[in-house]
Amino acid sequence: MKSDIKSEPENFQSKMPALFVGHGNPMNAIEDNEFSRAWIEIGKRLPKPKAILCISAHWETNGTYVTAMAMPKTIHDFFGFPSRLNGQQYPAPGSPELARLIQATIQKADVKLDSEWGLDHGAWSVLIRMFPQADIPVVQLSLDQIKLPRFHYELGQALRSLRDIGILIIGSGNMVHNLGVMTWKDQAYNWAEQFDLTLKNLIETGDHESIINYNQFGSTAQLAIPSNEHFLPMLYILALKDDAESVTFFTEKVTFGSISMRGFKIG
Ligand code: ZN
Repeated sequence: MKSDIKSEPENFQSKMPALFVGHGNPMNAIEDNEFSRAWIEIGKRLPKPKAILCISAHWETNGTYVTAMAMPKTIHDFFGFPSRLNGQQYPAPGSPELARLIQATIQKADVKLDSEWGLDHGAWSVLIRMFPQADIPVVQLSLDQIKLPRFHYELGQALRSLRDIGILIIGSGNMVHNLGVMTWKDQAYNWAEQFDLTLKNLIETGDHESIINYNQFGSTAQLAIPSNEHFLPMLYILALKDDAESVTFFTEKVTFGSISMRGFKIG
């Protein structure tokens, strides 16, 4: 498929919103619930993107990579789920053109083109609800696992111009995510709910510095973010926000004890 991505904003009149999605349980890809319904609604309300860039918690690498294949495969990177989930495919095309544009746009890192990955469930379990026709090209950007949170925020800042040419940037993770203490119940630990609300307030007041420096919150942050791969995609999205733009929360709930499903839209 020949895509039509130009680095000039001539074909797009307004800035594309950006999304952070709390993806949680892979079953949200096929289950009808409050989260999957919210994602369906968001997909209907957004202007149709020219292409999608997804930063998923589930692709960690040494160095920064962007998927550059024409047809990314659907990766079933989870275990113990029903076969009907494993049977799901999200056959959206890739966009080698967008991958090269991202490579050229990011000066801060030596972004390499990847031909092996595809779409992991952080990307496709959400996109299959938002854009079920799978007709919009999708690329993924990996998380360089040795870098500090500020690096990821600054990489997000470098991607701002993509919003002006109709690229939808989605961060997919969970801002509170502790699998070690999770329960399969629709309930929340007090500390998880408190930390989720702390983050909500910091997002609303635009205090990104405190979010980047989340370790300052001590033991609660260690419980909420025992490893930060699900947290980091949010930093990319916060970094895309202009001062004048608003933030809208489209899902807000802590479930399974320790998983925040909070999601927000910028712009
Ligand atoms: Zn995940």
